[in-house]
Amino acid sequence: MVSKLGSFLSKVGFHLEARGPELDIVCGMEVSNKTNYKVKYKNRIYFFCSDGCKSHFEMDPEKYIA
Ligand SMILES: [Zn+2]
Repeated sequence: MVSKLGSFLSKVGFHLEARGPELDIVCGMEVSNKTNYKVKYKNRIYFFCSDGCKSHFEMDPEKYIA
């Protein structure tokens, strides 16, 4: 029963993650996944609210992913 609930929750989590809005991991705000400020890094696309946040991420991606 517990594992059933766990797999249900991970399915829901995946569902939410797959559909946006996306989180700007530099400043923490939600951004539309239609924004032009995005970077592909390690097979994932990261979205940003502005060119500033995008450049911060590009300078040191690992800092924000960790
Ligand atoms: Zn931002």
